[in-house]
Amino acid sequence: MSIAAPLLPGATLGVLGGGQLGRMFTLAAKVMGYRVVVLDPDPLSPAGQVADTHLKADYRDAVALLRMGGLCQAVTTEFENVPAESLRTLAKHCRVAPGADALAVAQDRLTEKTRAREHGCETAPFANIETEADLAAAWRAVGGPALLKTRRLGYDGKGQARVDSLDDLAAAFDRLGRVPCLLEGFLPLQREVSVVLARNPADEIAFFPLAENRHRNGILDLSIVPAGVADSVTDAARRMAAGLARGLDYVGVMAVEFFVLAEGRVVFNEMAPRPHNSGHYTLDACATDQFQQQVRALCGLPLGDPRLLSPVVMVNLLGDVWRPEPNWLELLRHAGVQLHLYGKAEARPGRKMGHYNCLAATPEAALALAESTRAALGIGCD
Ligand code: AMP
Repeated sequence: MSIAAPLLPGATLGVLGGGQLGRMFTLAAKVMGYRVVVLDPDPLSPAGQVADTHLKADYRDAVALLRMGGLCQAVTTEFENVPAESLRTLAKHCRVAPGADALAVAQDRLTEKTRAREHGCETAPFANIETEADLAAAWRAVGGPALLKTRRLGYDGKGQARVDSLDDLAAAFDRLGRVPCLLEGFLPLQREVSVVLARNPADEIAFFPLAENRHRNGILDLSIVPAGVADSVTDAARRMAAGLARGLDYVGVMAVEFFVLAEGRVVFNEMAPRPHNSGHYTLDACATDQFQQQVRALCGLPLGDPRLLSPVVMVNLLGDVWRPEPNWLELLRHAGVQLHLYGKAEARPGRKMGHYNCLAATPEAALALAESTRAALGIGCD
């Protein structure tokens, strides 16, 4: 495989999607001396606010894609539901990473789990359901308890239902709109962890430390690093994540979520073809953060040092705590707190408005700081 020359500062990079992940990519790229073009239809998008150029158009808009391809030397994406076809179009004009095929894998839970298995990941038992005629066979194959998940467009626990019988399954399939679904065995989780890694075109892989993730109402609430798991769990998760990245010939930053079961068994849950909420702790606690790493991988540069510099706990700030605006002094009075707000004008329940990282000398002190500041803001008291 021939490897293109690295793109150096001064080049123009593009990102499809203007949410917070696109904003943090844009800020990292600009700090490093790149110019950034954002494509997002929302005139107030978080990334559009800080980009050099904001193309306000739909992700399928042929004219906007042509313009982006003309302006940029390389383009990446900040969310998986960008049409894979748009990446294929852009790839005719400039470097694109991750590629359209890797993105398409992550857009469909069936392809994702099938490919993950092929490339060495252990998964929960699963079965495909496309029509009512598939329900009984899927139930026989997986058994209960199980989770029914829509194959596409599910996130943060949306588009899924717990089912304990074939009748439950039929009712849930109906409620989910009879769209293609995956039935998945419900596992006894002890912990949830994620691996964020970067892979560049030279097949160099850098792993960030494993994060232990705690959710509330299906949305990530806290990430704790270092995770409280045995080294064998970290090794297994990294081995599976790297196998998948190589199997997909993935270039860029990728996150893989795993379940940890009894006796340290590690099971693949899903991948995100982009930086991830559970990697936001890297912004303040690692020698290189996940967005700098995204720039490096996209540009074909050697990867940065992902080493952890301090124990850290990341706390998500959802729109629920805007009543009307949190008292930021409750956070900023602490020297160990680093606040990140995404520039979203309207706060809605469940909407990710920002996050903060709590750094301390020990993991226990970082968790105590996270817990006391959350209580002071009223998070989790509703
Ligand atoms: P997902 O959208 O697939 O990431 O699922 C959202 C959350 O549901 C996960 O973070 C887990 O807490 C839970 N979950 C998903 N799949 C399973 C499973 N097979 N067994 C038990 N819990 C699950």
